[in-house]
Amino acid sequence: MTRDPRYDILFEPVQIGPVTARNRFYQAPHCNGMGRTFPSSMAVMRGVKAEGGWAVISTEQIDIHPTSDITPATEGRLWSDQDIPYLARMCDAVHEHDALASIELVHNAKIASNLYSREVPLFPSHMPVSSQGYPLQARAMTKADIRAFRRWHLDAVKRARTAGFDIICCYAGHNLTLPGAFMKQRYNSRSDEYGGSLENRVRLFREIIEDAKDAVGDTMAVIVRFSVDELRGAEGLEAHKEGREIVEMLAELPDLWDVCLAEWENDSQTSRFSEEGFQEPFIDFVKQVTTKPVVGVGRYTTPDRMVSIVNKGIVDMIGAARPSIADPFLPKKIEEGRIDEIRECIGCNICAAWNNMLAPMRCTQNPTNGEEWRRGWHPERIAAKADDGMVLIVGAGPAGLEAALAAGQRGHEVILAEATDELGGRVSRESRLPGLATWARVRDYRDYQLSQMANVEIYKSSELTAEQILEFGASHVAVATGAHWRRDGYGRSHQFPIPGTDGDNVLTPDDIMNGLRPQGRVLVYDDDHYYMGSVVAEQLVADGHDVVLATPASLVASWTDYTLEQHRIQAQLIELGVEIITGHTLQGITTDSASMGCVFSAKTHTVEVSAVVMVVSRLPNDNLYQELVADPERLNTAGIQTLHAIGDCHGPATIAAAVYEGHRFARELGVETTDIPFRRELTELAGEFKMP
Ligand code: ADP
Ligand code: SF4
Repeated sequence: MTRDPRYDILFEPVQIGPVTARNRFYQAPHCNGMGRTFPSSMAVMRGVKAEGGWAVISTEQIDIHPTSDITPATEGRLWSDQDIPYLARMCDAVHEHDALASIELVHNAKIASNLYSREVPLFPSHMPVSSQGYPLQARAMTKADIRAFRRWHLDAVKRARTAGFDIICCYAGHNLTLPGAFMKQRYNSRSDEYGGSLENRVRLFREIIEDAKDAVGDTMAVIVRFSVDELRGAEGLEAHKEGREIVEMLAELPDLWDVCLAEWENDSQTSRFSEEGFQEPFIDFVKQVTTKPVVGVGRYTTPDRMVSIVNKGIVDMIGAARPSIADPFLPKKIEEGRIDEIRECIGCNICAAWNNMLAPMRCTQNPTNGEEWRRGWHPERIAAKADDGMVLIVGAGPAGLEAALAAGQRGHEVILAEATDELGGRVSRESRLPGLATWARVRDYRDYQLSQMANVEIYKSSELTAEQILEFGASHVAVATGAHWRRDGYGRSHQFPIPGTDGDNVLTPDDIMNGLRPQGRVLVYDDDHYYMGSVVAEQLVADGHDVVLATPASLVASWTDYTLEQHRIQAQLIELGVEIITGHTLQGITTDSASMGCVFSAKTHTVEVSAVVMVVSRLPNDNLYQELVADPERLNTAGIQTLHAIGDCHGPATIAAAVYEGHRFARELGVETTDIPFRRELTELAGEFKMP
């Protein structure tokens, strides 16, 4: 296939100081939960993106000194020469595919609690540390500290050059870094030449850029990453006030401007709260004040939008973290005229959540993400089938769709049977709830791919029984029949049924998604803590209900703190007029009330409601699987060699988990598996071992 000429502009080279990016695709720095802790996983994940056509591949934040230690987070580190080899490995992986490797150097200022190094945190002024509410303060830096910081940064620049990087990124973004903190009036109460006027507050950032440029000459590019607006009004940097003035002051100094919003939850907004290109109104001034190339992000997945922002003069390069995670081959697919094959990011932030839980990231759309090295899963290549057996998949939710797609790609004859007249399972149902429409991309990407495959047949409106499955003549069967929400209250806070949950006035999210609506004032009881309780509450408000949301947690949708959404969700519910009760369990339901118990004390109170929606936990729909697995002889006679329950039918979890299970099922067909189904990388023991 050939590329549509209107996308040619995206494949023009971009000069970044002394180096040249081969096209306009820039993989912005992003955390990944692998970093220095799982270094080969990190390096190969980056290398795969270079292969997928990104011209610049950036690291995650790489901290430069023991005073910048954010243990236990699994980011990058470059404290000494000891750290060079693992970063060199990433550079090699990136260079193998002719991309430029960029390193984002950071000093974490008061984000760093220095739990490992035990150093006293550093900041422009005395201030408590931000992370996890530790009883610890950062101290105001002396002039000697500032000189020392410049030296550490410079040392890191030199080490980065030794590691093989092409680009140094000086970082003042996301309200994380030391030079960024100096810029802000709310943090900087200094009276020396590093405080007071904006010029003074920007001095340190200017100095580290100049130091880096002096050190590397024309051997590397020196760029900046800067958050032009913090979305906190006059208290913070604003794009059209000091944010702009800072860009004007430093305009021609760096070789490129990578501009974004602070903090991370503003920069990586989910699709529930923002559209593709949501940062454009904040960054559109930058190209007017500098001649240097400009990069912006904003969950860009559609090539027409990319072309438009280049043509409009907003950016020169398309920055992307999440779109590059969901589809490492996004640029290649545009280049080769395969835009229908792009696996578009759905903006769910599961990737961020795993990083925030200090684990290797994963992606809802891309089941191979994080598995490139440890399992050898390539996002675009999969081994040919190991046998000629026909594969039958029962249920076309995210697990079944992905299983069918990957088994089909391996060359199997595949039959996918779905009980309803619609593909997508929970994804289709949930995408009709408020704010979740973009999630339908999980279905749409797979639906299109499957429609192109001659070896995959899809039967809709086909609810299979065990008898029918046995008669199919399939060698491999995956049961992907999903899960349903419980009505009885069992879950995190309740290990016994809640009295009254058998009443007619008790509903589940499945009922809501099936179009049932309660009467009168409704209590949404959320002991699930992810998105469902809040979107059900929003749906009920939209339908005209008076809604109360109660949860045993201290915050609404508390787990969404990991997906960077908690604040916005709670704010939205408050603005919609939902009454919020936190720190209470549901103790019983009558026809006109619910009794609530305080999680700390023995106090109880009654809430007047005429219906309750239980958002608590789910049970697998595994009757079919259990019936089949119970009789191995019948399976044998029917020629069924392997039988698996996958996705929510196996264990109710996230959509990401269902997609992964579907993919894993197909990858492992005919492959011998072991108890530990992936490669591990162990920290090398120190050579020297002496008791004190
Ligand atoms: P998962 O997230 O694990 O993919 P879902 O609940 O999204 O699970 O999807 C399960 C799908 O399986 C639903 O679309 C449902 O209609 C379908 N299904 C359930 N039972 C059967 C069956 N016996 N035969 C065919 N399809 C079924
Ligand atoms: Fe996008 Fe979600 Fe994948 Fe992150 S996990 S890259 S937000 S689809």
